[in-house]
Amino acid sequence: MLDFGLTGKNAIVCASSKGLGLGCAQALAKTGVNLVMCARGGELLEKVAAAIRSETGVTVKTVACDITSAQGREAVLAAAGHVDILVNNAGGPPPGDFRDWTRDDWIKALDANMLTAIELIKAVVDPMIDQRFGRIVNITSGSVKSPIPQLGLSNGARSGLTGFVGGIARQVARHNVTINGLLPGQFNTDRIEGLIDNTARQQNKSPEDVRAELEARNPSGRLGHIDEFGFACAFICSAQSGYLVGQNILVDGGSFNSNG
Ligand code: NAP
Repeated sequence: MLDFGLTGKNAIVCASSKGLGLGCAQALAKTGVNLVMCARGGELLEKVAAAIRSETGVTVKTVACDITSAQGREAVLAAAGHVDILVNNAGGPPPGDFRDWTRDDWIKALDANMLTAIELIKAVVDPMIDQRFGRIVNITSGSVKSPIPQLGLSNGARSGLTGFVGGIARQVARHNVTINGLLPGQFNTDRIEGLIDNTARQQNKSPEDVRAELEARNPSGRLGHIDEFGFACAFICSAQSGYLVGQNILVDGGSFNSNG
């Protein structure tokens, strides 16, 4: 039997009422990890948390909040108390033309996809060092390796987080605290649905055609499932993954054409 060595550990999984965050929460719960989950919408959050509790028996606390706000982060950290695992995630910035983006648009993107993760890392990393165990996973995007033209706000903010993390991951690794990026390609979530609709409008095509093109372009011939993303997250968090440090791991069906 494969044991991830995580039974009884405590995780914060940000932005996890659906999509990739939910996939990570579900997978960690299956390895015996107790969860603090958050999202702005409390109703769906509580519904998915109840399903995880009844399926796995782990303790799941929910915090309905905006994780990009200081109050939201404080509420999540207070609910968690002791933290062994932190999965950073938040909604992605909108697509668009860089000529239209104001300073406020940039600050919002940086807050959501860079500074929120940095603030949470800052809050948990020293206690993780003291306890000689910590796993931090930043959900970023395949755009870190292969920028997506219309998602410039996302490309910029996530690259900033990746650069910062690359440095500190190597400062904390000797304490069995790892920090890695998990980079989604295209997964079947509400977020991708919105991007498909946007492309369909721009290219005057039906959303079904745009989706079929995306699937056909991917070497796996399909979009990813959140379970597959969650499993990769649980693997990075496993007790055995202490030597996996400062990496940016793509889960994209082979879409990024590279050997490394
Ligand atoms: P999703 O299906 O739209 O789910 C987003 C989740 O985050 C929901 O639970 C949402 O709940 C929560 N959330 C959003 N903003 C939040 C906030 N400010 N505070 C707390 N919770 C928040 O999105 P996804 O596809 O899982 O994407 C997750 C991240 O991965 C995004 O940053 C996205 O850009 C990135 N990404 C996704 C893909 C993909 O293929 N899906 C590819 C590359 C990158 P509430 O709305 O109730 O808050």
